[in-house]
Amino acid sequence: MTVSAIEFSRLGPPKLRLYGMRCSGCGGISPWWEKFHCYKCGNDKLTEVFLDGRGTLTNYTVVYYPPRDFLGQEPYVVGHITMDEDVLMPAPVVDTALEDVQVGTRVKATLRRMKLGHEGDIYYSQKFVVDPAAA
Ligand SMILES: [Zn+2]
Repeated sequence: MTVSAIEFSRLGPPKLRLYGMRCSGCGGISPWWEKFHCYKCGNDKLTEVFLDGRGTLTNYTVVYYPPRDFLGQEPYVVGHITMDEDVLMPAPVVDTALEDVQVGTRVKATLRRMKLGHEGDIYYSQKFVVDPAAA
């Protein structure tokens, strides 16, 4: 999820854990932004479930020409991370040299400053770093 600096200070990191939406029909988990329909079966009964925050990088791209909110961060890696709970999560992968980013790398979620809003406000969200436990 992405939150403003004010929400960040109000909620605190424990309330900002990565979560997904578990389907009561098939048990599958959809990404957190999907509130209404299971990605796997279409069921509309979803409940929030915390994710462990670990996964495997299954694809990635390097962004050299970012959208306005992300200017100044380029070049940066946006990965497709298959979480251990079997949900695909697109997110930046940080703290690793571009040439060291590889498909198959084990990564874990961390809360970081994500972008600047149009009013200069700062937003926080999950990014991923190489999992030190697996490196
Ligand atoms: Zn389902």
